[in-house]
Amino acid sequence: MTSVAPHKKAKALKPGSRRPAKELCSECGLCDTYYIHYVKEACAFLNQQVAELEAAAHGRSRNLESQDDWYFGVHQEMMAAKKKQPIEGAQWTGIVSTIACEMLTRGMVEGVVCVQNTKEDRFQPMPILATTPEQILAARVNKPTLSPNLSVLEQIEQSGMKRLLVIGVGCQIQALRAVEKQLGLEKLYVLGTPCVDNVSREGLQKFLETTSKSPETVVHYEFMQDFRVHFKHEDGSIETVPFFGLKTNKLKDVFAPSCMSCFDYVNSLADLVVGYMGAPFGWQWIVVRNDTGREMLDLVRDQIETQGVMSSGDRRQAVQNSIPAYDKGVTLPMWAAKLMGVVIERIGPKGLEYARFSIDSHYTRNYLFVKRNYPEKLAAHVPEYAKRIVGQYKLPE
Ligand code: FAD
Ligand code: SF4
Repeated sequence: MTSVAPHKKAKALKPGSRRPAKELCSECGLCDTYYIHYVKEACAFLNQQVAELEAAAHGRSRNLESQDDWYFGVHQEMMAAKKKQPIEGAQWTGIVSTIACEMLTRGMVEGVVCVQNTKEDRFQPMPILATTPEQILAARVNKPTLSPNLSVLEQIEQSGMKRLLVIGVGCQIQALRAVEKQLGLEKLYVLGTPCVDNVSREGLQKFLETTSKSPETVVHYEFMQDFRVHFKHEDGSIETVPFFGLKTNKLKDVFAPSCMSCFDYVNSLADLVVGYMGAPFGWQWIVVRNDTGREMLDLVRDQIETQGVMSSGDRRQAVQNSIPAYDKGVTLPMWAAKLMGVVIERIGPKGLEYARFSIDSHYTRNYLFVKRNYPEKLAAHVPEYAKRIVGQYKLPE
């Protein structure tokens, strides 16, 4: 029998202290644990290594000859899906929480890393290592704030767990994959969601106050495929604000610098990704990256309706027009923003083309952000697939 060498440990940083990635830190949680020892190699903002980690997780990295791979990452299959009986209070229909509960109750895993909120604040993240379905369900719905999900990693070793599911967004999953071998697990399952434009808790407050009519009653929100932000309020009412009416000049500094320099919107390293942006309105979008992801999805096939992915429209002109508009912080008057929203919803990109629209808009914006603020990082930090996506557009200096 071979024995595994114990991993190296270092002293975790105190909450609030400056992190190795400095202002680019996304508070993924790794540095709150003794796995900080590996930070230089593992941190998504210090050492971009998506292609190498893809090869380790999925058996291959993105095929750079395939545009679908540039955009959506390594995948076996994509589909649109929704739960036949949605989970009340989930972000969408609750596919993520359902898969996690099934994995736990069937004994495939002993614990699930997910994030609840604190009692005092519905948007303040509180990562946990869940061991009951009730705890997983209490973690449903997005905490639209930077969340230190990996801060519970030390508990895994201490608990002696050998089979684990981690739910998380791209930057958390990159660091997790980089230390995966040190966790002493027999099997790690990774269930990811796409993620973009995340904010600190203070940034969220500013976003809600600048954009919603009733910031204190917002329960959750999403940037939807109909080109509107949908705010759900405590009384169940929905408020919509067109993207083109957002006060971009006031919101420019709201998004965290980590998210302004992220090129892993689609969570390239998860086994299975559950989002919405490649699916028709009201449906979720599923990307199966490898056999492990397929095994996870198979657990809930009888609880979901599915349909193939579709794609229509042409995003390119809309993306090209949005680049200087965002750069200059242009805000349209509300009537014009509403009109533009209606027109673009009728004739604009749908399905996978909408996902490409969102990826293109964010990667071009983020490329400019890194180029202007961290020019020395640009070449190594931007993955090759993102350089090709950005290379389709004319960017201002
Ligand atoms: P639920 O069953 O409600 O479960 C949600 C799960 O997300 C929970 O298990 C919880 O632990 C986890 N979670 C919540 N907040 C965080 C967080 N901050 N960090 C890590 N994990 C968290 N999808 C898109 O297609 N396009 C987008 O632009 C997009 N942006 C997103 C931005 C953020 C900040 C987040 C957290 C998610 C985003 N998603 C996006 C994913 C999407 O909003 C849904 O989370 C996904 O479709 C799952 O819905 P559900 O009903 O199955 O999830
Ligand atoms: Fe540490 Fe994560 Fe911040 Fe990088 S992003 S410095 S790994 S906490």
